[in-house]
Amino acid sequence: MSHRFFIPAQNIRGAKAILVEEQAHQIGRVLRLLPGEQLFLIANGVEYQAEITACGANRVECRLLGSRLPERDPELTVTVIQCLPKGDKMDLIIQKATELGAARIWPALSQRTVKRPAGERAAKQQRRWERIAVEAAEQCGRLRWPEIAEPCPLPELLADSPGPGVVAWEGEGDASLKDHLQALRETPSLTVLVGPEGGLTEQEVVMAQASGLQPVSLGPRILRAETAVIALLTAIMYELGDMGGLPR
Ligand code: SAH
Repeated sequence: MSHRFFIPAQNIRGAKAILVEEQAHQIGRVLRLLPGEQLFLIANGVEYQAEITACGANRVECRLLGSRLPERDPELTVTVIQCLPKGDKMDLIIQKATELGAARIWPALSQRTVKRPAGERAAKQQRRWERIAVEAAEQCGRLRWPEIAEPCPLPELLADSPGPGVVAWEGEGDASLKDHLQALRETPSLTVLVGPEGGLTEQEVVMAQASGLQPVSLGPRILRAETAVIALLTAIMYELGDMGGLPR
């Protein structure tokens, strides 16, 4: 397995790169990599192949061997508006949405969201989400991790949501997801909205529709919120993104 780390651009100096603190600890103490071993460093959207030249407890030095720009982020910019689910389900959603290529994840407070963190807890949660996104992006080889916004009331997010898109609504009996996605084939960016475990209210679906999001069914079974968002992103990347092979 090749190890990947996002590092700040200023830690690349000429043909040398430096990793410090947690990352140095991870490389030296956890992964026990040694001078001479190789890893990948990502800075400013560029992936560098690097060889470790010196390995200390708080500082690892590398020599850069080459750089490349692999196509691992989809061209399609997908914004995920996810109404906050209970417990730590958002952790899983952030990890999977990152792997599937989401560009932005906007947690929303909707009429039926139960969890409404505030103050220090909210700040801590935000830092955890960011770390999950960075680690998922490193693991899957993306050159950027998705932007994760602070939880906001759903109407505000809908007012800002870029481009057309879809809202997953189990009340939408016969809307064909395939047809709606096909109709969005030319769009460079789209937004998806998924409700919390209690679902979206009809009023929220109407509001989403007014913001350009088309209600779509994900089939006859009611999925959990985390399954719904993963399934929807998969369908989108298959139909319009970088999962289904080259565009027809
Ligand atoms: N409480 C609702 C289900 C909510 S499921 C009920 O029991 O009726 C959580 C979210 O997942 C929903 O708000 C919706 O956005 C999405 N979802 C789940 N199953 C779906 C389906 N079959 N079609 C469309 N959206 C679905």
